Amino acid sequence: MTAATIPPATHTPFTNKLVTHTLGFPRIGQNRALKWALEDHWRGTSDRVALHETARQVRDDSRRWHREAGITRPACGDFTFYDGMADLCLLFGQAPQRFGDRPNDLDSLFALARGQQGEQGSLAPLAMTKWFDTNYHYLVPELDAARPFRLDAGRLLEEIKESLADDPSSKPVLIGPLTFLWLSGGASREERLTRAPELAHAYAALLSEITALGAEWVQLDEPILGLDLPADWLAAFEPVYHRVKTPGLRLMLASYFAPIDGRLSLLAGLPIDGLHVDASSGGELEAIADRLPAFKVLSAGVLDGRSIWRADLAALLDRLEPLHRRLGDRLWLAPSCSLLHLPLDAGEEAEADTALPPALVENLSFARQKLVELQLLARGLAEGRDAIAAEIEAATAARQRLAALPGRRDDARRERLSRSLDREPARRHAYPDRARAQQARLRLPAFPTTTIGSFPQTDEIRSTRRAHRRGEIDTNAYERAMRASIADTIAEQEALGLDVLVHGEPERNDMVEYFGQQLDGFAFTRAGWVQSYGSRCVKPPIIWGDVARARPLTVEWSRYAQSLTDRPVKGMLTGPVTMLSWSFVRDDLSREAVAYQLAAVLREEVADLCAAGIAAIQVDEPAFREGLPLRRAGWDGYLDWAVRAFRFATALAPTDVQIHTHMCYSEFNDIIAAIAALDADVITIETTRSNMKLLDAFAEFEYPNEIGPGVWDIHSPLIPSVAEMVDRLELALDKVPADRLWVNPDCGLKTRGWEEVRAGLRNLVAAAHELRERA
Ligand code: GLN
Ligand code: ZN
Repeated sequence: MTAATIPPATHTPFTNKLVTHTLGFPRIGQNRALKWALEDHWRGTSDRVALHETARQVRDDSRRWHREAGITRPACGDFTFYDGMADLCLLFGQAPQRFGDRPNDLDSLFALARGQQGEQGSLAPLAMTKWFDTNYHYLVPELDAARPFRLDAGRLLEEIKESLADDPSSKPVLIGPLTFLWLSGGASREERLTRAPELAHAYAALLSEITALGAEWVQLDEPILGLDLPADWLAAFEPVYHRVKTPGLRLMLASYFAPIDGRLSLLAGLPIDGLHVDASSGGELEAIADRLPAFKVLSAGVLDGRSIWRADLAALLDRLEPLHRRLGDRLWLAPSCSLLHLPLDAGEEAEADTALPPALVENLSFARQKLVELQLLARGLAEGRDAIAAEIEAATAARQRLAALPGRRDDARRERLSRSLDREPARRHAYPDRARAQQARLRLPAFPTTTIGSFPQTDEIRSTRRAHRRGEIDTNAYERAMRASIADTIAEQEALGLDVLVHGEPERNDMVEYFGQQLDGFAFTRAGWVQSYGSRCVKPPIIWGDVARARPLTVEWSRYAQSLTDRPVKGMLTGPVTMLSWSFVRDDLSREAVAYQLAAVLREEVADLCAAGIAAIQVDEPAFREGLPLRRAGWDGYLDWAVRAFRFATALAPTDVQIHTHMCYSEFNDIIAAIAALDADVITIETTRSNMKLLDAFAEFEYPNEIGPGVWDIHSPLIPSVAEMVDRLELALDKVPADRLWVNPDCGLKTRGWEEVRAGLRNLVAAAHELRERA
C-alpha cells in the first residue's frame, strides 16, 4: 500500500448541508516552520517580518487544507505564537505586575512566556503546566485583584479578520471565561470565582467586537466541564453565559476530553446556540439529543482529536445515522477537540523512505487526514452511504490489513501474560524483611546518597550518538565511546563518595524512545511532531503491536558499569505507565492491557539484571500521576491497573535486590495510597521547590518504605550550599524516620554541565556526612 490509500487531502465535491467544523489545528506548521522561525527570532538572527511571514504561511496552509477538505466552519483565532492562555492573559490586560504595564504584543507574549532581564535582575516567566490530561503545556496566568480586566484585543481581531476575509463562515474559537479563571493562578479558587461577572463583562465586549467583524458563530471552550467542579463553579455557568450572550452572534459552547455526564440539564438550559461534546468515547449523544431544545445545534465530536488512527467510517455511520435522522441539520460534526494534539500530516510518513510497514502508515490519521475523514462522514450522512462506498470500503480494508499485520497480536504470549497476571503480583517478602536483606548485601551508611540516573549529556555524547545513528561510526566505535563515558561517570561518583551509583544513561536520547526503539510493537514516525509548549515539540512513539523484547535492553551497560566498582550500581528502567503516557497507543486494546504488556517486558529485564548481579534497580514513573483520569470516578480503576503493572514489572526481584522508583511532580496527596501500594523499597521525588512540603502526604499516610526527597533543584543553575541541603534534610527528618531517609537531587542531571554537577554532588555528599556525624 502507498500514500494513495490514505484518504487524499484533495477537494471532494461538496453537496450536503451538514455542517462540519474544527476546534483548532496544529500551529507549528509544516516541517515545524514556526518553531524554527521563533527560535531564529529569539536568537536575533531573523527579524519580526520574517516571523510574521511564517505565521501567516502556517495560517494560510491551515485554511487551505480546511477548504480543500470541504470543512464548513474552520476554527480561527486559535493560532498563537506561543500559547493561547498566555494570549488571553495579555488580551485581558493581565501581565503580572513585575513586567510593568504591558500592551498585548509579541514582545510581551515572549516576556511572559520566557522571562526577561529586568532592571533588578531577571523576571520569572509565567509557570507552565499540563493542559488537562494532554502533553501540551499552557502558561498559567497570575490574576491580581488589584488589576481589573481590560480589553486589548487588537492582535486577535486582526487574525480573525484575516480568516473571515478568506472564509466568511470561519468560526473564532476562544477559551471560555470559566475555564480561563479556573486554570489561572495568583488567587484562591474562591477569589477567582468572584471575578467571573467582571470577566464575563470583558468577554461580552470582546464578542461584540468579533461580531462587528462579521463572524456568525463564536465558540467558547469550557473543557473544565470534564472535571469534578465544585457546585459554585457549576452554578456560575448560567449567569456568566447570560452576560456573555451577544446580539447577532451565535454561540457554541464546547466541552471535551471527557463526557459531560451529570451536567446535561445545566448545559441544555444555557443561553447558547450550540453545544459541542466529546463523543469519541461513545455514549451520550442520544441522551443529549433528547434534552437539547429544538433550536440548538448539537456538535458531535465523533472523531477522536487525540487519536492517530484512521477512523472506522462504517462504525461511525452506524452511530450517527439515527442521530442525523432525528436532528437533521441541527447535527454538526467535528473532531472531539482541537487537532493541536496530533501531528500535522500522515502523508509525510507515506512519502518518506521510512521503515514503517505500509499497513501501519495507511492507518495513520493525523490532523490533515482528520479533516478529510470528517467531511466523508458528513457526506455519508447527507448523501447516504453509497456516496462514499469506496472510501468506507477502503477504510475497512485498511483496518483489516492492520489487524492482520504480523506483530499485531501474539496470542500465545497474551495467553501466558494473562495467566501470570492472574496471581496478585507481589514480591516474595514484605518490605521490613527486604530492607534487612538489602542492608546485608548493600551495606549502606545512614542517609545513603544517590542520583536519579542521568549525568551530563555532553556535546561529545550527543554527537557520538548522532554519528552512530547516521552510520558514520560503527557499533564498536559507538559502544567504546559509551563505555568510556560510563567509566568516567563511575569514577566521578566514586571520587565524590556517592553510595549508590548509576551508569549515567549516555546511550539514551529519551527515556521512552530508548526502550521503544528496542522493542517489538513500537514504531517511530519521521515527522510526527506535536507541540509541547512554545517552540518545543515532541515526537511520541507509536505502540501499534504486541510489545515484546527480543533480547535484554540495558543489561550489558549495567553489567559493565557494575564491573568497574565495588559500590552498587542501580539498573535504570522506564516504567510501564510512563512508556504508555508518552506514546500514541493502539486503539484496539485497552490502555490497561498495553500497560501489562510493557510491564511484562520490564519484568524480563528486571530478572536479567538481577541474574547479572545488579543489586538495585530503578523503575522511573514520572508520568504516573498524569495518567489519572480527569474525573475522580475513574481514579480507582486507573490506579488499580497502574499499580498492578508496576508490581508485575518488579515482583521477580529477589528479596535482597533494592527496587527504586522515581517521580518528579508536585502532588501526592490524592495518590499516596497507590504510591505506597507500588511497594518500591525506595522512592525518590522532587521536593526542593516545595521546601519539603510534598513530604506531608507521606508523613500523614505513614508511608512505610524509604524516601529520597530531592534537596537540589536541578532545573535551576544555582547550586545549593551544604547548609541549605542540611536545612532541607532537617525539614525532611520531621516527616521521615532517619533510618529511611535518602539524600539525592530532585531529578536526573542530563541538562547540567559537569562543573555544576561536581559542585552540587560534592555539597550533597557533605550534607549527608554532616547528618551522619550528628546522629
Ligand atoms: N532516570 C531519568 C533521568 O535521570 C529520570 C528522568 C525523569 O524523571 N524524567 O534522567
Ligand atoms: Zn525526575
